[in-house]
Amino acid sequence: MRVFNFSAGPAVLPEEVLRQAQEEMLDWHGSGMSVMEMSHRGKEFIEIATGAEADLRELLAIPANYKVLFLQGGASLQFAMVPINLLRGKAGADYIYTGEWAKKAIAEAKKSCSVNVAASSQDRNFTYAPAQAHWKLSADAAYVHYTGNETIGGVEFQWVPDTGAVPLVCDLSSSLLSRPLDVSRFGLIYAGAQKNIGPAGLTIVIVREDLIGHAPAGTPSMLDYRVLAEAESMYNTPPTYAIYVAGLVFQWLKARGGLTQMEQTNIEKARLIYDLIDTGGFYRSPVAREDRSRMNVPFTLPREDLDEPFLKAAKQNGLIQLKGHRSVGGMRASIYNAMPVEGVRTLVEFMREFARRHG
Ligand SMILES: *Cc1c(COP(=O)(O)O)cnc(C)c1O
Repeated sequence: MRVFNFSAGPAVLPEEVLRQAQEEMLDWHGSGMSVMEMSHRGKEFIEIATGAEADLRELLAIPANYKVLFLQGGASLQFAMVPINLLRGKAGADYIYTGEWAKKAIAEAKKSCSVNVAASSQDRNFTYAPAQAHWKLSADAAYVHYTGNETIGGVEFQWVPDTGAVPLVCDLSSSLLSRPLDVSRFGLIYAGAQKNIGPAGLTIVIVREDLIGHAPAGTPSMLDYRVLAEAESMYNTPPTYAIYVAGLVFQWLKARGGLTQMEQTNIEKARLIYDLIDTGGFYRSPVAREDRSRMNVPFTLPREDLDEPFLKAAKQNGLIQLKGHRSVGGMRASIYNAMPVEGVRTLVEFMREFARRHG
């Protein structure tokens, strides 16, 4: 029996997608092979990769002057690749410091350039998204980087910053495809697939073409967007099976009405949990209401000694991976695209019952 899996990542995938992958496992479309066994340069896999890119472009309405790259190394490698490729001779970049993932992005960038922390939410323990009116952007920044959704802290920007002519770079690892997005506002977007998109091993980069080709001489080929873009993400062997499954997820999203529909469902799911947190008087969310993530919902119980009984009882009810990140404690329910409304309803009913028994 399948559980409702609230893991932050690798995370739940649509059951329909898993079933399709299962059906096609031994023989993809009459090829007599599993996708895992195919040459990445053969016509079958080229068809899969081309289709996946086309569907992703359609879902996000990606403008023609943006490249879509299917890479490896996770969002963590992008923390390093972004400064290497986007500095373009400038000395530094602006970063918005909103939690654990921004912190890692900043630490990595510091190895390549000077980092100006233009805004931070550290003063309130990373529980909000700093309003742009308070950002102290530097005039000569090569780019401005922010974390669209802090997966651990559960803080999400519900708005897109305006950085004028300075390229905006965003880590959307845990929220890309959860809602429509105006890609033209960004210079570069990146996301590890294993949260809201597909299997681990695939990293998606969407980059405006004029920002490609500026890596300094001596940059290793695998870290140079130009090399990867010119090779259509096939400079080396790409993560073929992960691309295939992500492609199935793109088709699944399209069949369900695309990102506008997905956003409505995600709003509904998030509201179910936050309403209980706000009205029940038992659970608490540390995050400012207007900045609460629709994807990752951290919450605490009134007493820490209730954490273990909560997790144990949840598991008995088929609700798993609700333990919060070790750095913040408490609980966290990740409710990505693939988490059905029914899963969230089951969780909320369980939470209500647990509060009734222990309140
Ligand atoms: C998980 C996560 C990362 C790290 O992703 P990897 O693919 O493991 O490198 C970076 N940023 C955010 C927002 C994340 O959620």
